[in-house]
Amino acid sequence: MAKKQFKAESKRLLDMMINSIYTHKEIFLREIISNASDASDKLYYKALSEKITGIKRNDFTINITADPAARTLTVSDRGIGMTRDQLYDDLGVIARSGSFDFKDGLGGDDDKNKENASRNIDIIGQFGVGFYSAFMVAKHVEVISRAYGEEQAYAWESDGADGYTVRECERDDNGTDVILTLKDDTDDEKYGQYLSEWTLKDLVTKYSDYIRYPITMMCSRTVPKEGTDGETETVMELETLNSMVPLWKRQKSKIKEEDYNNFYKEKYYDGADPLKVIHTNVDGVLSYSALLFIPGRAPYNYYSKDYEKGLQLYSSGVKIMDKCADLLPDYFSFVKGLVDSQDLSLNISREMLQHDRQLKAIEKRLEKKIRSELLDMQEKDRDKYEEFWKNFGLQIKFGMYENFGMNKETLQDLLMFYSSSEKGLTTLKEYVERMAPDQKEIYYASGENVDKIDKLPQTEVIRDKGLEILYLTDSIDEFALKATGVYEEKTFKSVSDEDIDLGETDEEKSAVQQKEESSKEMLDFMKNALGDKVTEVKLSQRLKSHPVCLTTKGGISLEMEKVIKAMPEGSNPEIKAQRVLEINSDHAVMKTLEDAFASDRDSLNDYADILYNEALLIEGMPIEDPVAFSNEICRLMTK
Ligand code: ADP
Repeated sequence: MAKKQFKAESKRLLDMMINSIYTHKEIFLREIISNASDASDKLYYKALSEKITGIKRNDFTINITADPAARTLTVSDRGIGMTRDQLYDDLGVIARSGSFDFKDGLGGDDDKNKENASRNIDIIGQFGVGFYSAFMVAKHVEVISRAYGEEQAYAWESDGADGYTVRECERDDNGTDVILTLKDDTDDEKYGQYLSEWTLKDLVTKYSDYIRYPITMMCSRTVPKEGTDGETETVMELETLNSMVPLWKRQKSKIKEEDYNNFYKEKYYDGADPLKVIHTNVDGVLSYSALLFIPGRAPYNYYSKDYEKGLQLYSSGVKIMDKCADLLPDYFSFVKGLVDSQDLSLNISREMLQHDRQLKAIEKRLEKKIRSELLDMQEKDRDKYEEFWKNFGLQIKFGMYENFGMNKETLQDLLMFYSSSEKGLTTLKEYVERMAPDQKEIYYASGENVDKIDKLPQTEVIRDKGLEILYLTDSIDEFALKATGVYEEKTFKSVSDEDIDLGETDEEKSAVQQKEESSKEMLDFMKNALGDKVTEVKLSQRLKSHPVCLTTKGGISLEMEKVIKAMPEGSNPEIKAQRVLEINSDHAVMKTLEDAFASDRDSLNDYADILYNEALLIEGMPIEDPVAFSNEICRLMTK
């Protein structure tokens, strides 16, 4: 029989696995048992939802048999089984969902490829990729399977990377046997250990204890020998190796941190421990248990459209959905975990679930719980919270911005921004607590990073006055604040807002006004020279050592304009910040401008343009005509 080749990506993955990128080869058993448990779940769920009689929960067991003579290890289940096509599709190709993107190759010369490659390997290391992990310990794998409702069974066989065959065979009932012929022992690896009763027992308790079907194996037991006085003999008995109590049903006080961490890593394919575990049991009109995890780092595809949020949904211990999206609001989409409730109807369909009142009620309560746990972490374990913020803060800020601040009450206290006075992250609450009684507004400045914002001319005077500024460095930040609107009766004010009130005295104000009146003609001339690039040219009250800056009028700031321009769709050329060019009347450049206005208006045209371009550059904005700018500078240098 001709051997079928594995699909290309499977082949590459297999090669890598067999060449053991994976350090814990022993996890193969967990993977195979999990598949057997899933297959049992599938059939049991089918029986319940389609009201098939004659299938009982107790019918499902998973059996392990070791045969040292044949050097085989067999895992058998009575689950849903696989049809011939499924053997081809499910075992012939891995990563059908496309979650592993091998397109970029694993080597390659440029750094991007390398980065992708190492990330992919990392993923594989974490995933164990299920069934294929068998090849880490087996030189030959045979899968005998009979799908539920079919008469014919099929055998799938493979020696690893070079392909597989499928043929008809016999099996008494529905279910699957996975038969591994273990590799020969080497100096480094003793594959034979996976035939030892002791090792197998240990692996099952370590990795598969929570599996909700009995995992059985014939085990030796020493018993008193009948008819003798004190002599013993060894008998073989079928033993159940796992406790079957799911972790979330166990008494909290009896669960170790390590148990939670292992459970998380196994179930949610993360190599790292979770940052936070939330385990709650709620009794009442609506009873449920929830076991939630906040990952220690964002999954590699978290901020892409490939990422799917959701919690596993169990009804009285039976998994009815793998990713129930309705249980999590988008802004908490990073949360992993499960909900188990006996109050949910079992044969509920996906469509019905969406409108299910009980599910909505659970979602609301989970949301509250997650929020309060996060706030608790913020207060009591700031380092941890900052770690959380680094990974998922962006998502919270998106949540704030979404639906025009509808989630404000839930999210505003979770927000953190860099503070000019604290030199680190701060919350809005902490900022407000530090505010002087007469300070009415919360100041913020936007820019690419802390350094650049520090250097912005607009921030200098404000900092000198001892006022605290929030530095917004993510493009979403300003939108998130705008959506917040008001926080504890304080409004937000950009340091680049044209009408910022810095508490100047009336005298100071009128002094500037006077100066402005006397320079009015010159400022108007400059405004005309700049045309519709600016709405106004004015003297500044906020500049100290810098000659110029750009500020804006109205609701759209320069940062927001930048973000909107960068959007691939919906970028609207009409949306433009109304720019105001502010000039420092105390700066030496003022005199040059006045002289030019008096006697050399051609030069003043150039100066206006140069100053405007300088202000753009300071803001990190591109200048419209770099060639003209360069010529103007040269004219100035050769004067
Ligand atoms: P995963 O379990 O992550 O989907 P695997 O590589 O472990 O990936 O398995 C691939 C697929 O093969 C499974 O999704 C399932 O459809 C099928 N499969 C594996 N083992 C069994 C089994 N014991 N019974 C029925 N189907 C199985």
